[in-house]
Amino acid sequence: MGIEEKLPSGVLLTSVEKLVNWSRKASMWPATFGLACCAIEMMASGGARYDMARFGMEVFRPSPRQADLMIVAGRVSQKMAPVLRQIYDQMAEPKWVLSMGVCASSGGMFNNYAIVQGVDHIVPVDMYLPGCPPRPEMLIDAILRLHEKVMHEPLGEKRRKQLEAIREREGAP
Ligand code: SF4
Repeated sequence: MGIEEKLPSGVLLTSVEKLVNWSRKASMWPATFGLACCAIEMMASGGARYDMARFGMEVFRPSPRQADLMIVAGRVSQKMAPVLRQIYDQMAEPKWVLSMGVCASSGGMFNNYAIVQGVDHIVPVDMYLPGCPPRPEMLIDAILRLHEKVMHEPLGEKRRKQLEAIREREGAP
């Protein structure tokens, strides 16, 4: 009798999911990508005072190929939008996007033709963080909430279908 038959149904699969998700959230590396004033707070989060390294996030990666998390820190200009999308496309799956600050999330005070009115017009967003600018503690809190979300994500085909359903519902690109 195989081990699967001795255990209640789904136990092995659930445990593998938990293990994989735990390793993903415990080594989530952000892309080095700052757009405006919010980026200063993002940089502070990585310094010794706030020490984001405590949560397995110490390496901001200069290459999108090595990054799992895009922190959109600041307003997105129309000119920057295709570049942002290209960087997102270059990141390998699984990947997540955190919209940092009111400008990235909705255009903020820049309600004009030059600024994208929410980065979710360009890439799908997993976590929105309000504030102008959000302090490093707030960014770390948002990242920890994202970690919680990652812990409950399904794997493989199920995850792809779940993401597609969310993107369709939200009208995200
Ligand atoms: Fe700058 Fe505030 Fe906009 Fe962040 S939310 S980019 S701090 S104006």
